[in-house]
Amino acid sequence: MTVTQRIVECNSDKQIVDLVDSQAKATLREWKRKLIGEALEHLVTKYHGPKWLKIRERKPTPWVCSKCGPRQSNQVKRNGHYQRYLVVKEGVIDIRVPQLECLSCGKQIALDALFLPKRKRYWIELDRKITELYLSGVSYRQLKAILGRTMEWDCGLMSLWRRFQKIAKKASSSGLGETLKVLYLDEAYTRVKGRPYWNLLALGEGKSGKRAYLGAVLSPDKSEASWISLLEALEIPEAGKGLLVIHDGDQAIASALSLIVPQAKSRLCAWHELHNLFLKTRGLFPNNKDKIKEVMKEAKLRIESAQPKTTSPLERAIKEYRRRTRPMDGFKSRIGAANFLRIWLVKENARMAKQDWLEAVVN
Ligand SMILES: [Zn+2]
Repeated sequence: MTVTQRIVECNSDKQIVDLVDSQAKATLREWKRKLIGEALEHLVTKYHGPKWLKIRERKPTPWVCSKCGPRQSNQVKRNGHYQRYLVVKEGVIDIRVPQLECLSCGKQIALDALFLPKRKRYWIELDRKITELYLSGVSYRQLKAILGRTMEWDCGLMSLWRRFQKIAKKASSSGLGETLKVLYLDEAYTRVKGRPYWNLLALGEGKSGKRAYLGAVLSPDKSEASWISLLEALEIPEAGKGLLVIHDGDQAIASALSLIVPQAKSRLCAWHELHNLFLKTRGLFPNNKDKIKEVMKEAKLRIESAQPKTTSPLERAIKEYRRRTRPMDGFKSRIGAANFLRIWLVKENARMAKQDWLEAVVN
């Protein structure tokens, strides 16, 4: 029975949807199998010439014999095919991969292509899928279930974890790209193996108002030493001359700043500034609510008109980070937490620069 005939026989919406989905998946799977197979043949022909050619030109190729080094087109020959399995989004496909042999030593030469890297069981598109799902709040366990269902393939939890960690390790941002004017410092709480940890964050703002994360440290404490290691890594020129640093007034941050960027001016973010003032005023006029109100109203006007944007832009990002990591109940390992932080910042930087974050993360 053809699909057309089968769709007529369906008795429910579910049956129709299931039929269409499974057929679409099968078609796409077959299309990818053909595409990759044909692309491989084309690759061999491109450098080695057509099969029937008796005498070959000497042309450089991208192929390297592990014993003899780079090969010219007339230093290799075709040697049949081998079968290889590849996991794509729609399932598992088998590909006939052309084999090449080195004419000098007889060794097999591996074909390597951007569209089919060596020794990769999962096709490149899966890295994106995994990253996208994981960063958007899906756990590894759920990821396994989702991918397992669509691919009809059991992808192990460990292998998913490793794939994500590998991508995270490679991810990097280009930074601010202009003179740093304002530096925001703050911390985001997290848990690693059930223990409290802090992500110490440094967000920079340039002359034009452009913002980007410049660095972050995953630390078991919020000590002066930890802030120093973050600030040192930023390599701020001229001891911070001309720079404004905005933070929450934490003593450890303040003393780290005085050591690493003594020339920088620092200010509390508006919320903290107002909060501190409120505590002080309440201490001065413990029973005078009207007086406290009056002082606060005036202070608010003064502080907010002087610098309208003093609420740290980090606060929003930290809320977002918490929202994402809360359901995970912390991280199982320090590496996992550090890599997540790293990839998260690359994602945030891409978002602030109005770039496609998936493109920036998986490259
Ligand atoms: Zn060789």
